[in-house]
Amino acid sequence: MMKGVIKQKLYSWSIKYLVDIMGRRQTMMEKYKQQMKAFRKKKMKLDNTPFLPVDGNVYVMNSLDPTKKIKAEVTKTRTKQHREIIENLACPVCGNPMGWDKAWEAFICVKHGKKAIYEIVEE
Ligand SMILES: [Zn+2]
Repeated sequence: MMKGVIKQKLYSWSIKYLVDIMGRRQTMMEKYKQQMKAFRKKKMKLDNTPFLPVDGNVYVMNSLDPTKKIKAEVTKTRTKQHREIIENLACPVCGNPMGWDKAWEAFICVKHGKKAIYEIVEE
């Protein structure tokens, strides 16, 4: 009789403990997920597209051959926060309009042979 009561008590205590732990773990997971979501959102918003210089002259360098500075032709711009940003640059090799790659922080052309990465350089 006594044994039965103790067993039951232990059982209910451990269940309660487990539920408590699981609940806490779940709230931690929820918190983490929310933070990650907010972080990703913030990162997505971050636009590092380069601004068009005042004189309009843009120079690039091929990442694989960073010895030559090449003057690039701006083919498309867009206004952001009252400033012009470069949307497309003509590829110095094939003339293909290159788009900005946020991750590479460069303009990328995939139209001629292997992928070419052009970084903007200061004049
Ligand atoms: Zn090209």
